[in-house]
Amino acid sequence: MYIDTHAHLYLEEFDEDLEAMEERLHSSKVERVYLPNIDVSSIAQVKQLSERNPELFKPMMGLHPCYVKEDYKEQLKHIEQTLKDGSFDGVGEIGVDLYWDLTFQEEQIEVFKTQLLWARDLKLPVTIHSRKCLEMTIEIVSELQDGNLSGVFHCFNGTKEQAEKISSQGFYMGIGGVVTYKNAGVDQVVKEIPLNHIVLETDAPYLSPVPFRGKRNESSYINFIAEKIAVDKGTSVDEVARITTKNAKKVFG
Ligand SMILES: [Zn+2]
Repeated sequence: MYIDTHAHLYLEEFDEDLEAMEERLHSSKVERVYLPNIDVSSIAQVKQLSERNPELFKPMMGLHPCYVKEDYKEQLKHIEQTLKDGSFDGVGEIGVDLYWDLTFQEEQIEVFKTQLLWARDLKLPVTIHSRKCLEMTIEIVSELQDGNLSGVFHCFNGTKEQAEKISSQGFYMGIGGVVTYKNAGVDQVVKEIPLNHIVLETDAPYLSPVPFRGKRNESSYINFIAEKIAVDKGTSVDEVARITTKNAKKVFG
């Protein structure tokens, strides 16, 4: 059985074939999918999908760094209320993205720290998005770590040393479709990270694994990610599924 620790299956890309997709999840042995929120406008969709099938779809609540704009204080207030009034399986997606837009760099960092503190108080795992600033993101987590922070560095693409720092903080590396891309380098690092520190994710509808690269991604493609990791690590797909699922259960309970 697989756990997809990061997918946005509530987006409109899935409106047309949601039922068929759920069946494909079932036949691909995906037992759980964690749904990180994006901003205030996606809350209703996250809730709706997780209420439709609470065993399968697990909602998370947070403000994505790429959506930290002028109105971030109101966004945060609304999201905090939603998180505290509801029942969520994690805080996410949170983090810092210095690739797309630097306008709100300082605010992104502030929003990230605020949400880490919520997670700490509520003892909930987090899913972290970090682009072009992994070292700083790891440092922020280390500073705020009091023993109650845990979670996943989603779409990990750092070095072996960074992976070691992350796992020493009690966090896991989220590995997805990028591991199947030639020249991305993630497969080389995966060879050096123990399976015990890896969880699987698809980030659907984005970052489809080969052979679906460039097309809409979905959680049922998770086996293509597991197969590539199995080859890279010289082990079986069953072993990759078993250990990464066990890891995901450790993080998310
Ligand atoms: Zn995401």
